[in-house]
Amino acid sequence: MLPDTIQKFIQIFSRLPSIGPRQATRLAFRLIGWGPARIAELGRVMSGLANVKICKQCFFVHTNENTICPICADTHRAQDIFMIVEKETDLISIERTGKYAGKYLILGELTKSGALDENHARRIEVFKNILTSLPDKKAREIIIGLNPSTYGDLYTYTLTKELTPYTKKITRLGRGIPTGGEIEFADEDTLGHSLERRV
Ligand SMILES: [Zn+2]
Repeated sequence: MLPDTIQKFIQIFSRLPSIGPRQATRLAFRLIGWGPARIAELGRVMSGLANVKICKQCFFVHTNENTICPICADTHRAQDIFMIVEKETDLISIERTGKYAGKYLILGELTKSGALDENHARRIEVFKNILTSLPDKKAREIIIGLNPSTYGDLYTYTLTKELTPYTKKITRLGRGIPTGGEIEFADEDTLGHSLERRV
């Protein structure tokens, strides 16, 4: 009943988190209502995402010529202090506090199982290589900045065990973010305090 182009659109957009076929169909009609010029603009914005690269060190996004992001390339930041976060949006929240001047590792999306998957393991290997190539062969500090939840705690435990040989000190964000709350949605003050009072 629907033209192929619309069906294809629905197929692709239904794969996005929290968008099912019904929402994707609605979205298609909404966009068609925008008219050709705005649709073309959206198309350009979408294909621009294809040029976004993933940092070889921290796994954040960038559009630099080289392989690392501006945060990793910034020599004014502490080179031997690292914060491990789950998602890109967590990094953005921490950066907004203006209270952290070390580097990061984005671990990738965590599951309720608390177990590290292949992608996490690969990133941790890259991370360990970075740490052992530091002048002291170890980090000065690793801050584990995962959401305070049951599975966040499980991952924190696993990461602590895994990374203790690679750092002089391992800490986690202090209290402030309520249990079950998310770093991404915490306000800057709360997050800033939590960072200052890391334990
Ligand atoms: Zn980076």
